[in-house]
Amino acid sequence: MKQVKAAVLEAFEKPLAIREFPDPGDPGPGEALVSIEIAGICGTDVHLWLGQLAIPLPNIMGHESAGRIERLGPGLLKDWRGETLRVGDRVTWASSISCGECYYCRVKKQATRCLTRKAYGISYCSTDAPHLRGGYAEKILLRANTAIFRIPDSVPGEALIGAGCALTTAIHASERAPLEWGDTVVVQGTGPVGLAAIAVAKAAGAGKIVAIGGPPHRLELARGFGAEVCIDIAQVTDVESRRRLVHEAVGPYGADQVIECVGYPLAVNEGILLCRDGGQFVVLGQYADAGNIDFNPHTITRKQLRVIGSWGFEPRHVDRAIRLLERDATLREKFAAGITHSFSLAQADQALQTARSLAGGKTVIRPNQVAGA
Ligand SMILES: [Zn+2]
Ligand SMILES: [Zn+2]
Repeated sequence: MKQVKAAVLEAFEKPLAIREFPDPGDPGPGEALVSIEIAGICGTDVHLWLGQLAIPLPNIMGHESAGRIERLGPGLLKDWRGETLRVGDRVTWASSISCGECYYCRVKKQATRCLTRKAYGISYCSTDAPHLRGGYAEKILLRANTAIFRIPDSVPGEALIGAGCALTTAIHASERAPLEWGDTVVVQGTGPVGLAAIAVAKAAGAGKIVAIGGPPHRLELARGFGAEVCIDIAQVTDVESRRRLVHEAVGPYGADQVIECVGYPLAVNEGILLCRDGGQFVVLGQYADAGNIDFNPHTITRKQLRVIGSWGFEPRHVDRAIRLLERDATLREKFAAGITHSFSLAQADQALQTARSLAGGKTVIRPNQVAGA
């Protein structure tokens, strides 16, 4: 029987191991076997590798990937949008499947909080057949009811994975905390989520956008995505000076919306400070539990703030991300250009270590590319 190679996380903080699994052969009803062309390494993968989130081991990581349909199971005729699916089509897919039946899926319509939600590259143990449930592999077997999307010809895999789950995450946040046209926005953090939040705010009709982050090359990217004012935290090191610069940019009352994309708990205090009274504060960066901070809740009451959390995304946000990239050539170029490092599957561990050491540049694995090519 043919074998399929995958990079496996067997123990936290230990090198990924290349292992072989049996090729699943013909997919079952509603399933799809996909040959992976490009898999992004997300900041979350680094948290997973460090053991900061509860996942089963061993685990084939990789929750933002694209590839070509190799085989289609019986009954799988169309993608999530209703477009015909064929063998050879370039596709991507929503990383999670929610149950559609639980309290959050059915009653509260918040499928990202589904009680039994499972995500490719995160929730599956690779010893459980059919094993191939992550992107760091030559192939993935997509379960029935996966939201699969045909990728338009105009959208290269590099643009899609360069944008990655950061873009879909930012689109979900924008749905939960909609802007009014011309609203001023401050984005804290210029990692992948921060840059995507800037791009989405711009597309959603924001007025002046201010980015706070670094290092300088990330601020340059932020400017390219639509931030008119960029504040380098290494140059402007105190909160009061940053507040003054923000007020100079957006006016004396503060920003209509502040989006925290830092993941550092103290950024929350600064974000609240930068909001105008009655503004919106979106907490989007606290994906790992980084602990408690001193915090004065009086400010929320007094400023009449709306504080909004947002977790992950649903298939409709993947749909919107693809549409956004399809109609905006400049965004496609910028997201693709954000990929700074590319590795073969054999070099998956090196890829992960590179992602870990970088201040935000995007690293990808090309699982079907030969090492050194
Ligand atoms: Zn991710
Ligand atoms: Zn559910």
